Amino acid sequence: MGNKMKILVAEDDPTTRIMLGGVLKKWGYEVVLARDGNEAWSILSSKETPNIALLDWEMPGLAGIEVCRRVRANLNSDDNYVYIILLTAKASKDDIVTGIEVGADDYIVKPFDPQELRVRIRAGQRIIELQSKLISARDELKFQATHDPLTGVYNRGAILERLEEELSRAVREGKSLTLAMIDIDHFKRINDTYGHKAGDIVLCEICHRVRSVLRVYDAIGRYGGEEFLVIIPGTNEWTGKSVCERIRRCIEEQEFFVLGKKIQITVSLGAVTSSTGINAEELIRAADKALYQAKANGRNRVEYANAI
Ligand code: GH3
Ligand code: MG
Ligand code: MG
Ligand code: MG
Repeated sequence: MGNKMKILVAEDDPTTRIMLGGVLKKWGYEVVLARDGNEAWSILSSKETPNIALLDWEMPGLAGIEVCRRVRANLNSDDNYVYIILLTAKASKDDIVTGIEVGADDYIVKPFDPQELRVRIRAGQRIIELQSKLISARDELKFQATHDPLTGVYNRGAILERLEEELSRAVREGKSLTLAMIDIDHFKRINDTYGHKAGDIVLCEICHRVRSVLRVYDAIGRYGGEEFLVIIPGTNEWTGKSVCERIRRCIEEQEFFVLGKKIQITVSLGAVTSSTGINAEELIRAADKALYQAKANGRNRVEYANAI
């Protein structure tokens, strides 16, 4: 966690609030102050949530325990867990049990000892740091499971899943989408002439170029060795064709510089625009057939599937 830990202090008593704020700042934390429960909740439900919250039990507006309940009920809170410490003048067992039950992680009985506060905050900090490491690891795994390690575009499974999603969305919104299959022309020759490493670099550069002519809501994935699928939502045959043509051109118009060599590369595309009732499998088959036509008709060209 690169940034400073941010701690919210929600305390209605000004003396305690200012004292707490001062001490926490001295210990190196970034501090946000709230004078009552409502203010605390508005800070905790905003985007830039604090990592740790010290909530006074008794405050005007929302009580600390109520703020705590709301934070835990917030379904989006998993990815930025707030470690909650209740500050209480009450110290009955029942209160403590209730506090922990509604989701507080810890509690401190007032008047508190600064050293105790310090170690309890550190304990919270360890939890937050662990949580953030787990989240990064999870996101990293998710990325690896859905992306091609060489080119960084979606892998086969992910682009097919995306196609299913985009097709249902298109049906729902009464729109069409275009699916294009790209295949590098005579790619085997590139490997044979310049080596497999050069071939790998070409694959990456092709993805980079294609992405640069797509919009953010378009998707590209590696379908096979040197074949890619591009999903272009919200397009009809006319606009779909123009995107495919843009893709073809962005490869052809500039030579590739690979390992000190200048290489001319072209791609062929087979494309199809969805019509109502068509499924993903049929779309892919149509794009594949059109691609075959593009190869047969001389390569470095776009062929469109007949209306199906
Ligand atoms: P065409 O114009 O008909 O598509 O000819 P082509 O040579 O591109 O097609 P072919 O299917 O004969 O060869 C594809 C080549 O792509 C063969 C394979 O070794 C190469 N290839 C597949 N995956 C990779 C990869 O990850 N890296 C490299 N360098 N080459 C790859
Ligand atoms: Mg109070
Ligand atoms: Mg191929
Ligand atoms: Mg090829």
